[in-house]
Amino acid sequence: MIFKKLHPPSKWKLARHLALQTAMALLQSALALLLAAFASASIARAQVAAGARSGDNTQIRRLCMMCSGADGAPVDDPATLSFNVSGAIEPRADRGLWLSGDRATATAHLRWIAGKKSPGLIELDGNGRVSVNARELAAALGIHGGIDSMNLQQIASLVAFDEGLLLLAQVTGGPYRYLLHVGETAPTLGGEVKVTSALNLDNRYDNRINPRRRGGQKLKVERPPEGFDVLIAINPSVGWFNLHDRQVMPAAQVIFHELAESQARLVLGLDYLSSGDDRGAHQVAIDRETILERQRGGRSVVKPIGSNIVLASHNDWLRLFDWLLNPKGAESPLEY
Ligand SMILES: [Zn+2]
Repeated sequence: MIFKKLHPPSKWKLARHLALQTAMALLQSALALLLAAFASASIARAQVAAGARSGDNTQIRRLCMMCSGADGAPVDDPATLSFNVSGAIEPRADRGLWLSGDRATATAHLRWIAGKKSPGLIELDGNGRVSVNARELAAALGIHGGIDSMNLQQIASLVAFDEGLLLLAQVTGGPYRYLLHVGETAPTLGGEVKVTSALNLDNRYDNRINPRRRGGQKLKVERPPEGFDVLIAINPSVGWFNLHDRQVMPAAQVIFHELAESQARLVLGLDYLSSGDDRGAHQVAIDRETILERQRGGRSVVKPIGSNIVLASHNDWLRLFDWLLNPKGAESPLEY
C-alpha cells in the first residue's frame, strides 16, 4: 500500500476541520438524544394505552388458538401454559433462562418484555437464573386478590393475553435451557466469539448453516456452550434502526424477537426460514412482535416491517445521517 505524505494543514483549515468534527459529534449526540427521548415518550404513552386493550383482534386470535389449537401450536395448549407459568414462578433445576455478561442490562431488557408493569417481576438468583415473582405477576395481571385467589389455569389464561409475559413464561418455565448474554464477546461451545450485533445459536439443524458445513454439522462456535440448548447474545454498544418506521429499535425488542425465534425452533421444531406452507421460526418471531406491538398500543414497539440496519461503528452512524438528510442522493445504509 502506498502512503502519501500530506502537507500539514493551515491553522485555518485545521480550525475548520475541528469545527466540522465537533458539529458532527454534536449532531450525532443530538439525534441520539432525540431518538431516545422519542422512544421514552413512546413507552410512556404505550403504558397509558395498555389499560385499554379489550377488543383487540390479535388477543381474540390468541384466545382462539388456545381454545382450538387452530394453528397446531402446542405451546398454546392451556395445560402446557399452566406448566410454563408454574415453572416460571418456581424454577426447575434442569430448565429455564439464565443471564450472563452484563446481567443488569439483560434484566432491564426482560423488564421491557414484561411491559415494565412491575419492577420486581423479574428475579435473579446468584447464578443468573431468572424467575418470575408470583406476587408481582398477580399485580401485573390485575389479579387484586393475589396469586392464591386463582388457580394456575386461570392465571395462565391471563398470561396468554400478554405476549411479553407469555414469552417470558414459555422461556423461563419451558422445557429447555436458554442463556441470554449481554457483552461484546459471548461464550459458545467453541470458546468466546465476538458479538458483532446479535447471535442466536442452538444445536438444531438450520437450513442457512448446516448445508454449508462439512458433514452437515455446525461448527462448535455456531453452537451454544455446554449445558444450554440455545445462546442468545447481544452487543450492548450496537444499535438497530428500522428503515420503515425510521425509529431506533429497542434492544429489548431485538431480544424479544430472538427469544421468540429460539422458542419456536426448540418447542415447535421449526427451521429458521419458512418453507412452502411451513412457517419458519423467524416468521413466527415477527408475528409475535406484531402481536406485542398491537398489545402495547402500537407505540413502544417498532413494527417489524422492512429492514433494520445495524449501527455498530461511527461510520454506520454517519452513513445513517447522510441517508436521513438525503435519502435519494446518499449511499444506502448497510442492510442486514
Ligand atoms: Zn429472526
